[in-house]
Amino acid sequence: RTVYVNGEYLPEDQAKVSVFDRGFLFADGVYEVTSVLGGKLIDFAGHAKRLQRSLDELQMANPVTEDELLEIHRELVRANGIEDGLVYLQITRGAADRDFAYPKEATPTIVLFTQAKPGLADSPLAKTGMKVISIEDQRWGRRDIKTVQLLYPSMGKMMAKAAGADDAWMVEDGHVTEGTSNNAYIVKGNTIVTRHLGTEILHGITRAAVLRFAREAQMVVEERPFTIEEAKAADEAFITSASAFVMPVVEMDGQPIGSGTPGRVTARLREIYLDEMRKAAV
Ligand code: PMP
Repeated sequence: RTVYVNGEYLPEDQAKVSVFDRGFLFADGVYEVTSVLGGKLIDFAGHAKRLQRSLDELQMANPVTEDELLEIHRELVRANGIEDGLVYLQITRGAADRDFAYPKEATPTIVLFTQAKPGLADSPLAKTGMKVISIEDQRWGRRDIKTVQLLYPSMGKMMAKAAGADDAWMVEDGHVTEGTSNNAYIVKGNTIVTRHLGTEILHGITRAAVLRFAREAQMVVEERPFTIEEAKAADEAFITSASAFVMPVVEMDGQPIGSGTPGRVTARLREIYLDEMRKAAV
């Protein structure tokens, strides 16, 4: 594989980052994951915009312009022959003598690589639906910044696997925040409920697009907190993320949601999302 590191395209075994990099020592870095379908990038502009917001919140310099970033994404997709897959991008504050205070002068580290995922939009889970469990949300309080600090979500994924499930929905003060790496939704009748934006959840790029399409299709959207009990009593549930798109959830803590099979509203949103985003792909 060809990867990109600080201005260079290199074979992956020749790419290097300093042991003093603050991404490695402090998780002082941010990332984005952009899907590739048919060799084209899905919602690149959305990811570039959120990247800038994450960097601004951490007072971190952006080493590339949006045009340069697009060019790097495209070059890696081309060099690695990606039809369907992902482009991962990470920017850290860079290498500096270890100190909690941000260094006065550090050159950001920027790394991009691709992952091939043949048939990304035809995942079997889209047909069967996912099983989720509920767990306590024990992450830090600035989940709106997309940092590389992902250990608790990783633990949550392991808890889900140990319980024979596919993922975990996290709960804080009795209300669902989000999935380990996705935004969470329930459907009751024609109404879609998902948590409102704030510092408690990541502002999903897919979430923004899906809610726009839902409103355009005359569905009712309520952005408010909901409970696990409400989820268990819902007609349908689903998650969204840049790599899973819209994915049905059919079981919560071992109990079926609705009919226990992927719902009609979920299926329709997935179809609209994929159709529209493929059309707009760059
Ligand atoms: N919430 C969390 C915690 C995530 O990690 C992700 C995926 N990065 C999302 C939501 C979904 O965001 P997006 O639609 O931008 O991929």
